[in-house]
Amino acid sequence: MKELKNNVCKANLDLVRHGLVIFTWGNVSAINREKGFVVIKPSGVSYETIKADDMVVVDLEGNIIEGNLKPSSDTPTHLVLYKAFPEVGGIVHTHSTYATSWAQAGCDIPNIGTTHADYFSHAIPCTRAMTQQEIEGEYEKETGHVIAERFTGLNPVHIPGVLVGNHGPFAWGKDADDAVHNAVVMEQIAKMAYISYGINPNLSMNKDLIKKHFSRKHGANAYYGQ
Ligand code: 13P
Repeated sequence: MKELKNNVCKANLDLVRHGLVIFTWGNVSAINREKGFVVIKPSGVSYETIKADDMVVVDLEGNIIEGNLKPSSDTPTHLVLYKAFPEVGGIVHTHSTYATSWAQAGCDIPNIGTTHADYFSHAIPCTRAMTQQEIEGEYEKETGHVIAERFTGLNPVHIPGVLVGNHGPFAWGKDADDAVHNAVVMEQIAKMAYISYGINPNLSMNKDLIKKHFSRKHGANAYYGQ
């Protein structure tokens, strides 16, 4: 658990290093699937003072197993995602500017470049508006359900992130570091797409080129890298 706490703490600090969060606007978690424990950032604690021992350990039902601080307010969202996506080992949420702007606009980010296609096989989806009942009920848990619902028929390993409508991005990966990496990529893709549409609003990308770039890096025939 000590190692996972160190990893999650470092991953949270990496969000600051990469310019994805200011103040307390984000959170990272990681799961130990054997034990069924999730390590997550405490809620509302400044990144300037945060340390590994501040990380909170919860079980998949949200019961605190270890830690003196309250877990992130978004913990129930993370827990729903760990249950819905068994391949996922780490989750990141931020309010990074460009990805959040697409989320606020309520738009999927279309796959219009190889930077996007290297990481995401399709558009980065945006979730539907939440109902009154969802907002007034178990809001954070329902946020997780709305994400899982949006992924009906989509592969979360091939699309390692989502935009929660009116809120912001969630990204995930095989561990906390990988999830941070995907969150950084998502922000860059969101920025590039915004700029590209400003230059030319009528954009698209050849489906074969998308497939080519995605399969260079992912799957049985990947050949990118050493
Ligand atoms: P926490 O500090 O509770 O993790 O909240 C941060 C945040 O971004 C809420 O959406």
